[in-house]
Amino acid sequence: MKILHSLLTVASLALAGLVSRAANDERPNVIIIYADDLGWGDLGCYGNPVILTPNLDRMATEGMRFTDFYSAAEVCTPSRAALLTGRYPVRSGMCHDRFRVLRNNSAGGLPREEVTLPELLQGRGYATGMVGKWHLGHLPEHLPPHHGFDSYFGLPFSNDMMPAPDAPKGRPKFFEENNAYWRTPLIRGTEVIEAQPDQRQLTRRYTEESVRFIREKKAAPFFLYVAHTFPHVPLFASERFRGKSAAGIYGDVIAELDWSVGEILGTLRAEGLDKKTLVVFSSDNGPWLIFNHHGGSAGPLREGKGSTWEGGMRVPGIAWWPGRIAAGVVQHEIATTMDLFTTSAKLAGATVPSDRPIDGFDISPLFFGSGLVLRDAYFFYRGSTLYAARLGHWKAHFITRSGYGDDQPEPHEPPQLYHLGEDPGERFDRAKENPAVIAKITEAVARHRAALQVAPSQLVATVPARAN
Ligand code: MG
Repeated sequence: MKILHSLLTVASLALAGLVSRAANDERPNVIIIYADDLGWGDLGCYGNPVILTPNLDRMATEGMRFTDFYSAAEVCTPSRAALLTGRYPVRSGMCHDRFRVLRNNSAGGLPREEVTLPELLQGRGYATGMVGKWHLGHLPEHLPPHHGFDSYFGLPFSNDMMPAPDAPKGRPKFFEENNAYWRTPLIRGTEVIEAQPDQRQLTRRYTEESVRFIREKKAAPFFLYVAHTFPHVPLFASERFRGKSAAGIYGDVIAELDWSVGEILGTLRAEGLDKKTLVVFSSDNGPWLIFNHHGGSAGPLREGKGSTWEGGMRVPGIAWWPGRIAAGVVQHEIATTMDLFTTSAKLAGATVPSDRPIDGFDISPLFFGSGLVLRDAYFFYRGSTLYAARLGHWKAHFITRSGYGDDQPEPHEPPQLYHLGEDPGERFDRAKENPAVIAKITEAVARHRAALQVAPSQLVATVPARAN
């Protein structure tokens, strides 16, 4: 009886992930660190001349830095849906033409029938945790614990969505670094634990939660998704970082995010987990340029958040796994946040769903230098509308529109055509002399459209109950 009891105890411990993983277990831990509205040009290793990011620069030196890494959307909600499902957001319905992001009064959320990366990894015995901004439905039934995360600590949506009644009206309020103007609930699990957390402390608190998670779950493979609240406006940094950067409060905020990355990578090293952990750093969309010096930079790329020009969707992408990913490689192949779904699942030994289209590619051959992943094409959506498509170095814009502002969508026939190698800033339309290229891209778009599955009911479900 005693032996049976011992066996059962061992079995239950194993099930709970509390016994050490087998020495020959090749499955890596996976950590995705996702900034909010961080531009392609905001980090030292991406050429920023002012903002200091020594930890991210070191991460890039020890790992792989992607020059052509894309989010699947130009704003928060659809971008996050794509990251976690490996699918263009139009497939899950997590996009909306009018609002484009879920609001603090939206009834909808990520459809339960979507298969998320943490669900796949949970099925392989991974401990799964999320820290930070969710933005895929704030009602309890939509929160991360219902989408594959064992634990959750963070904000359910953007940090600007619930201004206090006495907050100054209009855009200048975003430049007021006054925490009293913002009421953004802080949630643990599915419960609100603070109605108005001090936003100056959020990056530090997210970091402490992340480090604790790593230490507690280190015995078994784990998946940790750290979705920072910043540099989405309004900007806040803790006392330690405030007023230190020559780039002002924006630089202070990025410096604190960089510190956070250093704490996470340092913890992995200290715990002997660095050679067992894939860490990827990226951003959900480009910089929010309408906020002037409180918005970031897309570097040489055109436009920013809200736009399907390169600056809206091409973002930093750094992958780190010492001993596996070759150090100091600058990777020019196209890769996307959706690829992290497929790649992480494959590395964990999980099966990617075959009953639905998955848009993420396995980019582990890029990581390990054993081959090239050549994409057929990449597609740029605003809401549920396809605006542009990239094939190789060529990008065709069928519709253009500025990220924010009052201008209307402008259709182009033939589409505008830019060569992103010779002209990364998309300044010189080359459509006239390249009809064959346009024909090829148009064919790729037609194939993509023919295979598209949209869930119209979910598009309706994401409409807010009232305008915000
Ligand atoms: Mg964002």
